[in-house]
Amino acid sequence: MKYISTRGQAPALSFEEVLLTGLAADGGLYVPETLPTFSAQEIRDMAALDYPALAQRIIAPFVADSIPEDDLKAIIVDTYAAFRHDAVAPLVQLGANQWVLELFHGPTLAFKDFALQLLGRLLDYVLERRHQKVVIMGATSGDTGSAAIEGCKRCNNIDIFILHPHQRVSEVQRRQMTTVVGDNIHNLAVQGNFDDCQAMVKASFGDRGFLPADRSLVAVNSINWARIMAQIVYYFYAGVALGAPDRRVAFSVPTGNFGDIFAGYLARNMGLPVERLIIATNTNDVLHRVMTTHTYGRQPLEHTLSPSMDITVSSNFERLLFDLYDRDGAAIAGLMRDFDAGDVHFSEAAMARASALFSSHRVSDEETCAQIAATWERCEYLLDPHSAIGVNAAQSAGLDPAVPVVTLATAHPAKFPEAVAKAGVGDTPGLPLHLRDLFERPERCEVLPNDLAAVQAFMADNLGA
Ligand SMILES: *Cc1c(COP(=O)(O)O)cnc(C)c1O
Repeated sequence: MKYISTRGQAPALSFEEVLLTGLAADGGLYVPETLPTFSAQEIRDMAALDYPALAQRIIAPFVADSIPEDDLKAIIVDTYAAFRHDAVAPLVQLGANQWVLELFHGPTLAFKDFALQLLGRLLDYVLERRHQKVVIMGATSGDTGSAAIEGCKRCNNIDIFILHPHQRVSEVQRRQMTTVVGDNIHNLAVQGNFDDCQAMVKASFGDRGFLPADRSLVAVNSINWARIMAQIVYYFYAGVALGAPDRRVAFSVPTGNFGDIFAGYLARNMGLPVERLIIATNTNDVLHRVMTTHTYGRQPLEHTLSPSMDITVSSNFERLLFDLYDRDGAAIAGLMRDFDAGDVHFSEAAMARASALFSSHRVSDEETCAQIAATWERCEYLLDPHSAIGVNAAQSAGLDPAVPVVTLATAHPAKFPEAVAKAGVGDTPGLPLHLRDLFERPERCEVLPNDLAAVQAFMADNLGA
């Protein structure tokens, strides 16, 4: 399988090359040239598979020319054995045709583990074979950093440097990063804000001269194709469990960067009968504004109770746009150039296509708390604030009540005790057993000034042999 850039000017790459690349050289994002598809009977037969077997079925066509089948199987089995629920992604029923898909049973209690646990192992496999070492550099305001560190901690061929804004991430999130032990793991607390961290990462990818020539820099943010690929699996898993292909299913997805929901769109294109995809946003509503006004524009960042969706630009939306504009890379390059200068208006034809499958809904902090409280009162089920936004959007979508709606529950409520307390549903939710002693574990973290040269010098000095 070949991967092509959404802006049409970068060379097509193999899976292995895409895995080791961030943005395409033309500034675009990589997508598969063609998608594998499954017939109704093939989808029906998926009902007999457990999660790892299903993952292998879905992922194999994407990596076929890079990783032999048996090796892929071993990697996938090992990846999902790290999850603490036998079903890996259990479905829970909240009401008549209302479901949540719990994606928080991985090591860091957020759905990002589904992709980053796999990504770390895929990278290690490929690097071992190539006798190559790489450096991962990323900025985080919370969930991505801990999931990336957990995913890569055993990889001998990777040095991972995660920047977070000093004293500006929650204590649970910080400890989930700083208590992971390993010589190849480096937490850098930068005396600046998240945007400063992100700017340093961007600058470093633009000029890698501070690293030795044999160490390439790899991105683990959601523009990495392998992350999207891993997320396609659970849409099939939930859909088949609820009767697909003989029954249509809708999904409500708490969304920031459009990565997770884009995986749902791909599942639909691969044959899963998806009735509707609901974009559930907090008040950082760039995607909701796109859907309702057809205009893509930046607005100032708001800090909400669902911080993992606090973004102003939704990078992965470019991947959908590429399809909405008939895969015309020059058109996408033009739109993105215009977006650098200001608001962009999308064509009515493109937006009509989007609206045929996607709806959107914006949920305030107040509504998020009310939803946590309401679901608790009705079902004694505790939602985290991101998942609550999804459930709220699902209930507001006006779908045919005969269609099951699955909300992706993207985080465990114990990660966000502040929102749960604001919702007034009683005690702080407890951390699962494997993290009960999180607050007693020693932390390792380097506080650095908000200075690119200082960060890069630290990285260069702390590379493994
Ligand atoms: C990252 C994250 C999201 C948003 O995911 P996208 O792929 O950016 O849409 C939602 N909820 C939680 C808990 C997250 O960590």
